[in-house]
Amino acid sequence: MLLWGDEVEYMIVKFDSSARRPLLSLRADQIIARLEEEEEKLGDSSISAWRPEYGNWMVEAVPRLPYGGFVRDLRDIETNIWTRQQRIQSCLSEDESVMSIVAFPTMGVGTFTHPAHAPGGDASQSNFVPDEAINPFPRFKTLTRNIRVRRGSKVDIRVPLFRDTMTPEFSHLSSAAAAAAPAADPINGTTEEGDKATDVFRMDLPGESSDAAETKAATARSEAPVEANSGQSATAEVVKPHIQMDCMAFGMGCCCLQVTFQARDVDESRQLYDHLAVLAPMFLALTAACPALHGRLADTDVRWHTIASSVDDRTPAERGVEAAAAAAASTGRGGTVEGPGASPIHKSRYDSIDLYISNKGHFRSAYNDVDVEIDEPSMEQLRAAGVDDVLAAHVAHLFIRDPLVIYRERIEIDDSKMTDHFENIQSTNWQTVRWKPPPADSPIGWRVEFRSMEAQLTAFENAAYTVFIGLVSRVILFFNLNLYTPMSMVHENMERAHQRNAASGQRFYFRRNVVPLKEECAPLSPVREAAEQDNVQPTVDDEIAELTISEILMGHNTPSQPGASSSFFPGLVPLIQAYLDIIACDDETRAMVDDYCEFICKRASGELITTATWMRQYIMSHPDYNFDSVVSEKIAFDLLQQCDAITRGTLNVPSLHGRFINRGARGEMAAADTAASAGGSTDPSSIPVPPTADAVASLLPPRRMLRGASFRQEVKTIAQCSLVRALITKYSSKAQQHLVKTSSDFAETQPYLSTMKANS
Ligand code: ADP
Ligand code: MG
Ligand code: MG
Repeated sequence: MLLWGDEVEYMIVKFDSSARRPLLSLRADQIIARLEEEEEKLGDSSISAWRPEYGNWMVEAVPRLPYGGFVRDLRDIETNIWTRQQRIQSCLSEDESVMSIVAFPTMGVGTFTHPAHAPGGDASQSNFVPDEAINPFPRFKTLTRNIRVRRGSKVDIRVPLFRDTMTPEFSHLSSAAAAAAPAADPINGTTEEGDKATDVFRMDLPGESSDAAETKAATARSEAPVEANSGQSATAEVVKPHIQMDCMAFGMGCCCLQVTFQARDVDESRQLYDHLAVLAPMFLALTAACPALHGRLADTDVRWHTIASSVDDRTPAERGVEAAAAAAASTGRGGTVEGPGASPIHKSRYDSIDLYISNKGHFRSAYNDVDVEIDEPSMEQLRAAGVDDVLAAHVAHLFIRDPLVIYRERIEIDDSKMTDHFENIQSTNWQTVRWKPPPADSPIGWRVEFRSMEAQLTAFENAAYTVFIGLVSRVILFFNLNLYTPMSMVHENMERAHQRNAASGQRFYFRRNVVPLKEECAPLSPVREAAEQDNVQPTVDDEIAELTISEILMGHNTPSQPGASSSFFPGLVPLIQAYLDIIACDDETRAMVDDYCEFICKRASGELITTATWMRQYIMSHPDYNFDSVVSEKIAFDLLQQCDAITRGTLNVPSLHGRFINRGARGEMAAADTAASAGGSTDPSSIPVPPTADAVASLLPPRRMLRGASFRQEVKTIAQCSLVRALITKYSSKAQQHLVKTSSDFAETQPYLSTMKANS
């Protein structure tokens, strides 16, 4: 049975009301210690677990036990998330608030921590962020130091700066001479000495930077292997002012929302990994919530590239900024365990995945169309042990990285009994999805973690995205969808996801047809059948279109190309609706899922704006804003007060949430609210804990399971197949209406199966 769970990361913000200055409260270690003590006391009624994160202002909250695979379990998720958030709040003082914002807007600007510390320190050597802000758990400072040392310099994070009418950096661009000159930093009042490229947004390697999509698009489909310093030198430099940041905290201090699924077996885990990887860019764009960094407005809406650069430990030769031979000659810094770190590596340890890992089902090797670096000794070892090439390449690609942190006493261990050495490399390859083999000493199965989403302000939103991606994973398995898109296009989709308003404004490469139930049913398209009989593989253009997220969710009908498969795609939401009918989901759960789906569709259609858009609009319409892309402390203070009120449910912003009211505002947890806002002294047992699924089971209709592939095998007679077709068609037409008239909602839809029963 399915086991799964979310991870939501939170920040502890302290409001200094006399100075109207927001601060990061550096006491997550104490708060986590206290929460863990409370958990002990709660015993069996505990529903939460707590994990330290990079910043000592961050708390990661997870359900104590993974969610189960019953439909009914979907209803517990929002309560679980809400309760965890309330639990953290109950440990805070009156001027502190817990919030799941992605980036603290004035991070690295003046005094931004409580207690205050001077910037810098041995680990990060930052000009902006004190090492005291890093979680005191030794792993985090060691990571910071070792990344810097291996790289040979501080990390260099550059995010395109948003251009407003008075943004000073852009006035420099009127003359070429000015563009080359060091720019004044209006926040810190300094000039970036010693960095000639300050005003030049320069790519270290073709295709790796956080630059606009056009630049990336030009390289994404290129077959040319990426070489250090290849061709794209000065001429490819894009003059573009940027926000500059210099340490890991700017990236790893961002908050995200992750969801982990246990698969039935290794094959299913590989199938899920590949398909979720395709969706990662779209869900990054949909959840965009990161418009401001280091006191400036960014020209992008999401955190991803910031984190990627913040942990980029590649040596200059690996990044391609220094000839490999020179790097090989100098053994002073960097280098892999096996060598000097002199071969080019395309990407940071934190980035989108490079390889699909399934070798079954719809996978074709042509979809793995980007060059990847392979650690040959690992590849040999894996092959010798009988691991197939597709999976071996994935693991050998992880092993191009050096270990970053290792405990002395864990160096010499028995690798046949302990997986520490694998986990060490695995846990510092931070990618859009993570394939998690079972630990050596544990009964846990094969898992896949979906990692691209940005944290949302409210429990409602975090639950909506968790439930939605959970149902998408069921639909992928139940309908045996084929979402494979060439990896180079998935990379391009990641770039597009960064652009402002990508959720409703960008198109993404996506399959024209996802062939639901192809094996069980007659082929959907005679053209496709003919093509398959002739053993003609469809070309990329036949298979792939550029779709908006709204079309991906709600379906589309694109003109078919000659020889192409049918171009009708029902959309993920109608597939979810059909799936819920087939598993006979109960009405109450259905109503809740309908709300989540409708809410997410409205974010995609633009009827509701993303958190990033709302924050940007708030900042730009603030009376203190000077049209210079500066987010001052006072603006940030007011913005974060709004975020706090939204999080607690005392403020509803219709443009952001429409009719979808956050849990706190529904009054269901009023007692907990009152107790928590009193601060400090709340008894955790006074925060209502929802009854367990078992306790209420007897009150509910027969428990339905969120089945995937196992159920599909049972629904394969022609009659059932046509039923599935009918359902998909039904909900697709509903979805099309929804597109036209977004005020209508799925709640009006009658369950199809019960109607059929009534009619027969
Ligand atoms: P990590 O920090 O390595 O990503 P965590 O240990 O924090 O992983 O857990 C991630 C999520 O996985 C949590 O929501 C947890 O409830 C969930 N989880 C735990 N065990 C399982 C399991 N066997 N299958 C699926 N999910 C699980
Ligand atoms: Mg975790
Ligand atoms: Mg995680």
